[in-house]
Amino acid sequence: MAEPTQTRQPSSSLTEPLLHLGCQSCGARLVLEPALRTTRCPYCAAPAVVERPPVAGVPEPVFALGFALTHTTAKEHVSRWLRSRSRFTRSGIRSASPGEVKGVYVPAYLYSVLAQARYRASIGENYQETETYTATENGKTVTRTRTVTRTEWRPLEGELSGYVADVLVTASKGLQNAELEALEPFDLRAMARYTPALISGWMAEEPSLTLAECQALARKEAVDRVGVKLTRFMPGDSYRGLEHQARLEWEALDVCLLPVWVLAVKYAEDAPPLRVLVNGQTGAVHGKAPSSPWKVLVAVLGVLLVLAMGWLLTSGGG
Ligand SMILES: [Zn+2]
Repeated sequence: MAEPTQTRQPSSSLTEPLLHLGCQSCGARLVLEPALRTTRCPYCAAPAVVERPPVAGVPEPVFALGFALTHTTAKEHVSRWLRSRSRFTRSGIRSASPGEVKGVYVPAYLYSVLAQARYRASIGENYQETETYTATENGKTVTRTRTVTRTEWRPLEGELSGYVADVLVTASKGLQNAELEALEPFDLRAMARYTPALISGWMAEEPSLTLAECQALARKEAVDRVGVKLTRFMPGDSYRGLEHQARLEWEALDVCLLPVWVLAVKYAEDAPPLRVLVNGQTGAVHGKAPSSPWKVLVAVLGVLLVLAMGWLLTSGGG
């Protein structure tokens, strides 16, 4: 199989109509050149990929981040990850072939907003106090003093405005937001205006989540970030009961494409596929290996046995 590279001539693809495929298992909506036709979904490995008519009204990408990691390097990252996880994993996973890793331009929304937060909290100020106490020394009751730290609490409320930029949320049904977060950060300075030539030779996905779903994810992430900012902003020695509500204004939401290498392995009929993801820009790897219940049990029993032996030996020898 030819390795996709960014140097591929875009001229050939621009004249050919693109192929629209849909995964009937996870809902991913792929767009690719006919030469890249696939029968298995790159996200979930389901053999349920069928041709579909183009969907009207799907937003075009505005920005795209190019692949910096080659197929060879992505394969090495995946192999290393699989080796490091093989101890407790189901044996089927060891048959996974890292060379099957596929480059996909994953759709995401790039979101920024002006957030105006109202907050309230209790702020703790510490102070020192000398207190007297009684103790018994040599059978006599004596009075002594000691310094103790106490906290005085006072209510605080106010407003904090700030610009929240560069929030990335998935627009893909195939790749969950938590998985995208695990691959972040992407270096967004390398983001370029989208042109079809940029993704020529690669598989891409159209946004398969609705704008409303993505907007809800993005708003939540922005409000959470305001919360984190507020915790750093709190005065005093400590705080408790911090609550905030943010009003969001001047929202900007653009579709962008992110480079991700995906290896999906269907190792058992009754289980979701194992998925190893590699950030196509930084090489960060994320995956979750399904554990084999028996191997974990045997390992746990082994540890318990060692502990029990140690306890027997020390208590027997004492
Ligand atoms: Zn799928």
